[in-house]
Amino acid sequence: MSLPQTSAPSAQPTTSERLPESRDPATGEVWRRYPVADAVAVRGTVARARAAQPAWAALSPSARADCIRRFVKELLARRDEAAGIVARENGKPVGEALGVDVGVTLALADHFAVAAPRFLRARWRRSRMLAAWRKRVALVKEPFGVVGVISPWNYPMFLPLSSAIPALLCGNAVVNKPSEWTPGIAELVKECLHAAGVPADVYQVVHGAGAAGAALCEEADKIFFTGSEATGRKVAVACARRLIPCALELGGSDPAIVLADADLRHAASGIAWGRFTNAGQTCVAAKRVFVEEPVYDEFLALLTQAVRQLRVGPGTDDATDVGPMIRPEQRALIAAQHADALARGAREALRVETPAGDCYFPPTILTDVPPDSRAMTEETFGPLLPVTKVRDAEEAIARANDTTQGLSASVWTADVTRGIAIAQRLQAGSVLINDACTAAGVSDVPHGGFKASGLGKVHGELGLQECVRTKAVTVDWFQAWRQPWWFGYGPEHRENVGDFLVAAHGTALGAKLRALPGVLRLVFSPKRKI
Ligand code: NAD
Repeated sequence: MSLPQTSAPSAQPTTSERLPESRDPATGEVWRRYPVADAVAVRGTVARARAAQPAWAALSPSARADCIRRFVKELLARRDEAAGIVARENGKPVGEALGVDVGVTLALADHFAVAAPRFLRARWRRSRMLAAWRKRVALVKEPFGVVGVISPWNYPMFLPLSSAIPALLCGNAVVNKPSEWTPGIAELVKECLHAAGVPADVYQVVHGAGAAGAALCEEADKIFFTGSEATGRKVAVACARRLIPCALELGGSDPAIVLADADLRHAASGIAWGRFTNAGQTCVAAKRVFVEEPVYDEFLALLTQAVRQLRVGPGTDDATDVGPMIRPEQRALIAAQHADALARGAREALRVETPAGDCYFPPTILTDVPPDSRAMTEETFGPLLPVTKVRDAEEAIARANDTTQGLSASVWTADVTRGIAIAQRLQAGSVLINDACTAAGVSDVPHGGFKASGLGKVHGELGLQECVRTKAVTVDWFQAWRQPWWFGYGPEHRENVGDFLVAAHGTALGAKLRALPGVLRLVFSPKRKI
């Protein structure tokens, strides 16, 4: 049954919207265009998914898991083609696409193919409440129906599949609206899933930009959204209007705290990767670094040395470390944040040379960046890294938490116990000690932000929990006695109830024992009204 609509879909594609096309950011070359789904097409797609979903949900969890295992085989066989498309559409180095995009996807599919059937098993248990001693309860996990997965371009394969694969395994049909900047890889994923036995209408892709995403929010039974905070707010409002749930994985201004006892080479190398991988376009990138005063100069020298060695070029070139940014507008935004910092007195510690092209921005390290500059108050989604000297860990924690976002954070220290204590004080959905970014790609570790970085989780059991609605089935297994709270009221009943409350919740042993006869009369009373 379709959920009620509270507003007419307003989602006709507008002429100002970008058309979905496969385009190389290094050269601007477009090699494929995709038809845009308007609101009517999105409604039709969801209707087909809704019709196909019950048969998919009726399969056993292990039969669905077999499909996902076959998907792993299909994708593994097409891994180079997949990495090539990601590198070409997104601009990232092809080796990075193979390891991070394809590799993480294979790992998450393998993980959930095992974890989901276990998670879905209903287990009966007794209630531990005294008044409910006759009850046995099972929590049954049911699919929502059709879930919409709206995804960004920066990790265009594993981000949508982080929600889509567990959602499929839990018996949902999925409609993915990929980013208009990376539609090609969504088509390859769809082909692999269909070849693996997922029915065509159970996994579908609709192309388009914001209007197609907005139309999906008007039709699906749950939305998994990954993208910017600004769009996340619109999705949340659309879902709230229809009273449907949504999970939101949004942006971050993630801090990295380098303590004086850290292995500075390790920290410099990890933070260099964590910031500049994918040309700085990673949600959990280290975007603000705070370094304790005694090691600031040494750390900065090591970081500068690590970043200076980065080779910037087209993602399709095997020798490239850092590719172009996704689009000129994204480059212009990072350039504006950079210019704002310089205008407010920041200094450039390093700027790496780049090839010519309107999507390249030089990997840059900034120091002395004032806290109110855009590079510190906004998400910097590009290869720009402000490094700040702090007095001590206390100042680092205060500066780290001084942001509206709270996606992830990292702490670099030789003292893991202290690192964990600091992690507990950081306002972030995940904290890494002595590593950068990687937790977001580990599919049995929940990922999801605090504050304006989102709602809900992907990955891990909490991620599976997002793919189901839980039904409590409660059985009364003993029908010879009426329930003590059913009709049959009167002075004796009232007295017995009072005794029951003392026995269940009182603390004085004598009073509890004195109340026992009343409890037995109440609980074992055979009197029924009818
Ligand atoms: P975006 O918000 O511009 O777009 C994301 C998706 O939403 C795209 O598919 C887009 O077409 C669609 N969309 C646009 N308007 C919409 C609307 N009104 N209704 C529904 N859908 C709409 O984000 P982006 O530029 O593609 O991605 C970069 C952002 O994503 C960054 O802020 C980054 O931090 C964030 N991100 C977060 C995570 C995470 O796990 N938290 C992961 C990756 C990226």
